[in-house]
Amino acid sequence: MVGFNTIALLRACGLSQPAMTPASIVAASVAMVVALVVRFMSSSSRVNLRPRMTFLCVGLYHTSMGDDRLIVPAESSVLCESCGYTLDGLPTSGLCPECGSPIAQSTTGDGRGLPSWEDVSVERGVIWRFLSTTAAVLITPKRFYRSLATRADNRAALNFARIHWGLSAILFAGALSIHVYWYERLLLGPILPGGPWLIWAAGAPVTYAFLWFTNRLAARLSAWEAGYRGMRLPLNVVLRSLYYHAAHYQPVSLVAFLTVLGNWLLVRFGVISEASAQRYLIVLCSEVLLGAGYLFKTYWTGMKGVMYANR
Ligand SMILES: [Zn+2]
Repeated sequence: MVGFNTIALLRACGLSQPAMTPASIVAASVAMVVALVVRFMSSSSRVNLRPRMTFLCVGLYHTSMGDDRLIVPAESSVLCESCGYTLDGLPTSGLCPECGSPIAQSTTGDGRGLPSWEDVSVERGVIWRFLSTTAAVLITPKRFYRSLATRADNRAALNFARIHWGLSAILFAGALSIHVYWYERLLLGPILPGGPWLIWAAGAPVTYAFLWFTNRLAARLSAWEAGYRGMRLPLNVVLRSLYYHAAHYQPVSLVAFLTVLGNWLLVRFGVISEASAQRYLIVLCSEVLLGAGYLFKTYWTGMKGVMYANR
């Protein structure tokens, strides 16, 4: 930690306390920021915990924090499924020394396996396997991720995501095109050639590409931050979780699409007037915010469910 002696620091910068001017305050602030940066860089070095000198002239020292937490467990290590404690070398019949959970629950009895989408031994058709896995992700996401085998081939999981991204992209683009069409009619009268269909057709692949890119970016950032924090969450495991998380785009895109379509139909057939536009926009904005919160919450549920998986 850094122990600042403000007066000494000001004197080191050629300043005295009564003569503080805006320029001197800025100079002192810069010096303190430099000290904080030096402290941060030093605390990231992971090895030297001796007090280290930040400013020689004022005797300003800082001590790097211990950072054992930054060591990422090896892929071969056995982690406690409940608390993440490393169980290497302990008898499998015992209990986790950290949280008391049976070690068997993290090894042979961890309950992890392939979801029905990937389990070809299930004597069911592909549509049934797709729908049952989608229902498991949507209805019981915590249980789904806690029972998901994470170190498996990701190709089937990617195909699962592609179907959901595709369906969601169609619904999101449909909602956008109808909303734009409604908005232009409201302000200017119809000017879009071909009604909303052109934007819908062009917007769907763009939306799909956006979903794909966003998920790739989120996976890389998640894996990077997990490693930074000492968690064993490699990129292929994060990607696998996000591939199944794709099912959560369905309720968000469906609600948005039905809201926009419903408003347009009600206006079109004179059930409500254009005067209700403000109410419609408030509802739509609320759905955007709730949808973003829902997607983040379910993403976090997925990450927590695979964070301490051993297979
Ligand atoms: Zn434990």
